[in-house]
This record gives sequence, structure tokens and C-alpha cells, in this order.
Amino acid sequence: MTAHAIVAPGPRPARQGAVPSRATKPKPRASLFSARTRLLGSENAFRIGPQIKALEDKGFKVIKCNLGEPDFPLAPHIAEEVKRQIDLGLTHYCDPQGILPLREAIAGAVARRRNIEVTPDRVVVFPGGKPPIGLAQQTYCDPGDEVIYPSPGFPIYESFTKYVGARPRPLHLREESDFSFGGRELAPLIGHRTRIIILNFPSNPTGSVISREQLESIAEVIRRKAPAQVRVYSDEIYEDILFDGNRHHSIASFPGMAQRTIIASGVSKSYAWTGGRIGWAVFPTAEEATVFKNLNINYFSCLPAYNQMGARIALESPLSRDGIARMCAAFTERRDLMVAGLNAIPGIRCRKPGGAFYLFPNIAGLCENLGAVEAHRKLPAPDRGRSSPSTLVQMFLLWRYQVATMDRRSFGRIGSDGLHYLRLSIATGLDDLKTGLERMRAAAADRKGFQAFIQGREHPW
Ligand code: PMP
Repeated sequence: MTAHAIVAPGPRPARQGAVPSRATKPKPRASLFSARTRLLGSENAFRIGPQIKALEDKGFKVIKCNLGEPDFPLAPHIAEEVKRQIDLGLTHYCDPQGILPLREAIAGAVARRRNIEVTPDRVVVFPGGKPPIGLAQQTYCDPGDEVIYPSPGFPIYESFTKYVGARPRPLHLREESDFSFGGRELAPLIGHRTRIIILNFPSNPTGSVISREQLESIAEVIRRKAPAQVRVYSDEIYEDILFDGNRHHSIASFPGMAQRTIIASGVSKSYAWTGGRIGWAVFPTAEEATVFKNLNINYFSCLPAYNQMGARIALESPLSRDGIARMCAAFTERRDLMVAGLNAIPGIRCRKPGGAFYLFPNIAGLCENLGAVEAHRKLPAPDRGRSSPSTLVQMFLLWRYQVATMDRRSFGRIGSDGLHYLRLSIATGLDDLKTGLERMRAAAADRKGFQAFIQGREHPW
């Protein structure tokens, strides 16, 4: 028999001394789930939903400062359009890239605001502003490639990085810099494996905005250090939620940047329409948009056309501007009340955000006062690894004082040790916020209650 002879498959002769057959059986995998699946993170703002429900079922009123969801109804001119389109029969499959009238409206709105050119063939519509984050990482990254993202930042950035096998490169934002940054902070993170640089202004969870000058310095560093195929993922979903006369700036407006930038936004925040599930991204080229259109085809075919027509009206109707202005005025009033109230609580320090609808107070002093740092240090190793002092404070506030907040770890785990912050959403009514503030004031003075809560070990963290 030559070396190349083909041997018919059949039972192999047992090797001398080999354990028969069992030794050759493939080992069953320990986990039901793939290794990749086990790397996926989550968004805790949704995950604590069942805990809130458990408290509500017991008759407690929970002040919900956890979810980033404007508490305003969908404006009638948008709702009417959705209903009208359903009545007109727009209830079938439609263009997987997004229906043309909506893509035209998006192209127009994005172009006008940023003073750039956008054509509808570069626009793709997704079920919300969230999906293009993970899809972009799948599309541009091979295992070992690097994704730069802000930390603290929207948790989905870090979650997907590990899922696609890329290396997370968090850009740590500092309170002293108002959680903003410039080219100087970004430059050292850019390397030859960088594929995506994520920006998010106004920002979740800090509410920080970026100045034109800072953004210009970021653009300058990217042009100088990053090859042309590195993509900037500019998550601009809070583009309309701005206070104190702040204006929205997009990196895509700077010379040479539109060719490298994916601009993402949607209807969830600007039009208080989180249930509409309409978001979009504008890609640097039509070729890239086609790749994402194909991902849509693979994942969900298309989005409800009647909601897309509603989104078109949201973008084009002058009535929408008034709604946004009213919302921003309400958020400003709440922000001012809450920032003053939080700063009056011993151990809490809160800066005034310029946009979005989140406060991100530093609670290092509170963690000390309650004994949370010490309590965390004494936790058994698995619990300690899964939590932080601010996690314990978050749990205490929820279970003992019924105020739902989010801990620092929920916004990027890597490098979060020793950082003590909470995120509070102010997308909830003024009266509820006042109640929440009172409860937090009481909780902050309740060291005994905190210690008993920890010792009771009633709740997992
Ligand atoms: N990006 C950021 C920064 C967000 O905060 C959110 C929502 N919390 C999203 C994207 C996703 O928005 P959507 O609900 O439209 O998917």
C-alpha cells in the first residue's frame, strides 16, 4: 500500500495495551453552552427587573432609577402615524435594510445636523440602537483584534468584545475630567490590532458631553495613528438630550472622519419610544451597509414597516422638536433637584451632567460610612469576585429602602475595582425622585441597618 492509498473506513484494530473503545470516545463538553456564550455579559438595568417585581409583589413601592427609559408618552403625531399605517396594511415583510422613506429621512437628518453628506444606501435600520453595537464587533473584528471603548460605558460594548473573541481596551474616564477625554487619553490605546474605537457622547452612564475642541483632538489622533480601515463607532443615541444650551457635536463632522465613522442613533431616547425598537446606523460606505443588511436578513429579516413610518414622522415633523424641548426642560429640573439633594448627603459627591438623563455620583465616602468597603473585603471569595462595595450599597438601597440604582461594575468591569459610583436614571417623575432622595438620605445614615443587611445574607449579589 502506498502512502496515498485510500483506506475504507472501518473499525480500527485495537492497539496493544489500549483500553478498548472507551479511550477513543470523544469527551462530552462540561457545559451545555458554547465557550463563546459563557463570555457574553449583560445589561444589569434589565437584569434587576425580577428583583424589583419581587418587591412590588410584596406591596412595596420601588423608586426606579435603574432603567434608561424616558417616562413620557409617545407623542400623538407619531402614534397616529403608526396606527394609520397599520390600517393602510403596512403589515408585511419589507426592505431588510429599512424602508426607503425612513432611510431618506435618516440620511437627511443625520446630514443636516452634522454638516456632512449622507445617502440612503449607507443607512441601515435595526431593532433599536443596541443591535449594531454587537453586529459591528462581529463584522470588523477577528479574534485577537482590539476594541477601544469608554469605561464607565454602556455595558454592551464590553460584553460583545469578549463574545466575538476581541480584546477589550477600556478607555478609563475620570471624574476630574468630567468623564470626558481628548486625543491625549486615546492615543496610547491605539495599536496595530485596533479595529473599532467606540465613542458615546452624551454618555451613558455619566451624562457627560464633549466639547468641540476635545472631539477635534480625538479626530486628529485617529487620523494620525489609526489606519483608514479602523472604524469609529459613534453612539449618538442621546444626541437630543442636552442641557444648559449644550450643542451636540459628532466626530463625523471633522475632516476625514465621515469616511471612518459609523454614526448610530435611534428613536428610543429622543422620542421616548423605547418600545418602538427602531434604531439606525450610517456606514462609511454602501458596501458596508450591504453587509449589515445581510446580517439583518440572517437575524430578523426586517422591522415592522408601520413603526418605521412612525420613525420617519418623528424625524420629519416640526412637532417633534417641541416634545424634545419639553423633555429636556423636565430632565434639567430633575437633574438640578437631584444633584443638589445628592450632594447634601454625607459621603456622596455628584457632578452636574450636561446631557443624557443619568447622574453618576461618587459614593466612596458613603461606602466608608456604611462600612461597605470592609464588608466587601470580608465576603467569601466567590461573592467578593462577583461584587464590589458599590454593589453592596446598590443592593442595600434596593432591598431595604426600595430605591433601584446601578453599581459601577454594571458599566464595564475591567479596571473597576476600587471605584465607587452609582448610576441613577432621572427618567422618572419628580415626585418619585424626591421620595428616592429622602430614602437615600435615610439609608446613608443607617450603618446599623447596612451591617444587619449584609450579615443577614438574604440576597445574592
Ligand atoms: N447606546 C446607549 C449608549 C444606550 O444607553 C442605549 C440604551 N440604554 C442604547 C444604545 C440602546 O438603545 P435602544 O433601546 O434603542 O436599543
